[in-house]
Amino acid sequence: MNFRTPARWFPLALAALAAVLWLSPRAQTQSERHLTVYSQSATYSVNLLPYSGQVYVGVSDVLEPLGNVEAREDGKKWKLRFTPSGGREINAEFQEGKNKGKIHNQDVQLSANFHMENGRGYIPLHNIGAMLPFFTGQQTDFRETPLRLFIGGVAISFKEQVEKGSSPKLILNFTGPVNPMVATEPGQVKLVFRRDPVVNAGAEKVQTGDANITGYSFTDAGGTAQITVNGAVPLTAAFSDGNRTITIQPAPGVQIAAEPPKTQEPAQQAAQTPTAPAPIPLGPTQPAAPAAPPQPRFVVVLDAAHGGDERGAAITDKIAEKDVNLAFARRIQHELQTRGVVATLLRSNDATINVDDRAVSANAAHPAIYVSVHAANLGNGLRIFTALMTPAGVATHTFLPWHQAQAPYLDYSSQVAGSISAELSNRQIPVTALPAPLRPMRNIAAPAIAIELAPPDDEVTNINSPEYQNNVAAAVANGIAAMKPKLLGAR
Ligand SMILES: [Zn+2]
Repeated sequence: MNFRTPARWFPLALAALAAVLWLSPRAQTQSERHLTVYSQSATYSVNLLPYSGQVYVGVSDVLEPLGNVEAREDGKKWKLRFTPSGGREINAEFQEGKNKGKIHNQDVQLSANFHMENGRGYIPLHNIGAMLPFFTGQQTDFRETPLRLFIGGVAISFKEQVEKGSSPKLILNFTGPVNPMVATEPGQVKLVFRRDPVVNAGAEKVQTGDANITGYSFTDAGGTAQITVNGAVPLTAAFSDGNRTITIQPAPGVQIAAEPPKTQEPAQQAAQTPTAPAPIPLGPTQPAAPAAPPQPRFVVVLDAAHGGDERGAAITDKIAEKDVNLAFARRIQHELQTRGVVATLLRSNDATINVDDRAVSANAAHPAIYVSVHAANLGNGLRIFTALMTPAGVATHTFLPWHQAQAPYLDYSSQVAGSISAELSNRQIPVTALPAPLRPMRNIAAPAIAIELAPPDDEVTNINSPEYQNNVAAAVANGIAAMKPKLLGAR
């Protein structure tokens, strides 16, 4: 756990303000429509502008991450000078209300009139794919419906490999490293590629013919690609080969369906996961698993703190906090799933994610409960933190500031902490609960806690004991599951 002093929060104020604006209802409606641009140097997102019954995109918004942009208004004209990184200067000129322009002395025609707003130039989104090569000199693949733009040969494709039988696996091999967000729900794993240029080279829907991992589908929309793997049992995803390979297999301890499938005998998992769809083993010729009956949405976001370059505390010389946090978060996820509670890992591999991005991702998932997972080598058992909030500043803003997002949920956060404390006490695991100035809790617009795992005894390396971690994870899951009726009722 690394506490951030107030002095360290301060430089985040600007970023935080930007995030608040982004989260405000008006801005959010706009940000729902954005174009994702993938290039060799950067992946970025460009907001789209609805104008005159069409969708427009800012020319500078697309070009700025790719080189140096100088643009100016000259009466009704809009003049642009673009110098790609390491390339030669390109000049362009458009005019408000006209559908013709010039790029590098060539006449170009737009499908609708050029538009200027606040000194920025906008063209119909439809034209961006044809327009961009004039500026970048690179081949461009524009996919208008899913709002994805690929510059140069950046696309990453994948192939699947199915292993059936007693240890079934779906292995996805990607042509480059990927870093999707992994959402695990009963009988389903979703790999959400927000920033990776993942494209589909094969069929959109694939049936594996395996009774446990039944198939997967690829979709892309709204600037994001997604692979959804369906199974008859709870599934997990593991990364290997420098994040080029993702292996989907039944969660540890799950009883897999026998081959050939026995349709009369539901797997044991059904009894353990009351609200999960009953795992019905399906034969190769049958359609995909039936959809779960509609139920109130209750998702727990588990956020394994630190990761990548940020190692967190040194538990010992050899044990980094970031690794303990992820392993422990996975155990909590598994314990929640066996109780029929949907749980998502915000970080599912060794990625560096900054605190603001964590808060934005967590809030976007609209969790019922957010849990930040830490570890430390001091003391024993589990410490549970709620946000230490000061009311100062609320009255001076017309909307709830980013750093106060947690304020309305503090009471529920404390109740979640109390519920988990009670479960730990039942198991004679030492527990303390206290408020702490710990980000990103204060930025979370949902009941939020941070937990910090300490070793079970004087031997610090026992912090990695599976029995110990499972015992604590089970108590945490019980405490969360006990809050479900109350939190659902509060909505
Ligand atoms: Zn930490």
